[in-house]
Amino acid sequence: DFMSTPIIEPKVDYLIRPDDELAGSANATILSLVTNNDLKELLPSIQQLEEKFNKKFGYPYVFLNDGEFSEEFKDTIINMLPNGRVVKFGQIEKEDWDMPDTIDRERYKIECEKMDKLKVSYVKKESYHNMCRFYSRKFYHHPLLQEYKYTWRLEPGTSLYCDVDYDVFKFMEMENKVYGYVLNLYDGANSIPTLWETTMEFVKKNPNYLNPNGAFDWLKENAQKPENFETAKGYSTCHFWTNFEITNLDFLRSEAYEKYMDHLENSNGFYYERWGDAPVRSIALALFLDKSRIHWFRDIAYNHNPYTNCPKCPEGSMRCDGRCKPGLFTMWKDLNIENCQATWIDKIMSDEEKNLY
Ligand code: GDP
Ligand code: MN
Repeated sequence: DFMSTPIIEPKVDYLIRPDDELAGSANATILSLVTNNDLKELLPSIQQLEEKFNKKFGYPYVFLNDGEFSEEFKDTIINMLPNGRVVKFGQIEKEDWDMPDTIDRERYKIECEKMDKLKVSYVKKESYHNMCRFYSRKFYHHPLLQEYKYTWRLEPGTSLYCDVDYDVFKFMEMENKVYGYVLNLYDGANSIPTLWETTMEFVKKNPNYLNPNGAFDWLKENAQKPENFETAKGYSTCHFWTNFEITNLDFLRSEAYEKYMDHLENSNGFYYERWGDAPVRSIALALFLDKSRIHWFRDIAYNHNPYTNCPKCPEGSMRCDGRCKPGLFTMWKDLNIENCQATWIDKIMSDEEKNLY
């Protein structure tokens, strides 16, 4: 089957190559939310993105921070990038980052203590709640992103292992894709106890936003889910791992997404629970979007601790640098219980889509 065939790139009629006059012409930017302290971990991630992809296409960068970027941070990044690369540094407004006044701090503390006992990661870090809320419903409104239609999210400490010889943003544009991901996982349910019921409230009030071709069967509890993973009261917990995401921001700026975000905000789960931007974004995509507009970049060899997507290369291919072992994160349900990609393949992907690989 298609999963065992080696892959270099999607098999579509047109891919924009580095020497094509359209190379680098998408309205797109690389986006990284970081602090000054992330510099050391960020540099190798930028280096690899440049080496494997962006030196051939020259897309700009936007760096965002809730604090102020130091001169050292800015200088170091500008100096490591090729001359002429557009780089912007922005600060986030306090009101877009900080915990809103509508949150009762006493209750927040109590709820986080409870979730901490249930081993919800980062739950006692207020900045992490802020980050998840920001990436869910604020970042695409930042002034530095207003001019862009697509973002490639880049996190510190991540790696790319194989060359990408086509313009990924132009691929999104020409294939009419809205969202591109690499890894798709199950999550522990304790960070989102009421996310699903809150979502269903929204859906009942706004059935018009549902897309009849949504990826519902991926969201619903499903038989493929390993037994030792709790469900979230009807939600499979399947989610795109948003630390890598290529997004058409028009979707996030759409009425359906924005109204859904307002609804989530008003139910306070970014603070009384620890809703991640990954389940939030994933649910929105699966409900409001035609599933064919979500693309799995099976060919992009990517690592964010602790998971890797390492595609199998054709014999003799020099595309990959040998640092990742094909199958390190195997796509099959019995071999890696946290992986939800098997569900996506079985229940969501069309044959046409499978033929892309
Ligand atoms: P994890 O991937 O879930 O372990 O979370 P990370 O610590 O990697 O955070 C996700 C992204 O948000 C990364 O790009 C971080 O650099 C960024 N981030 C997290 N917390 C903060 C913060 O307090 N301030 C800023 N400016 N960025 C943050
Ligand atoms: Mn991270």
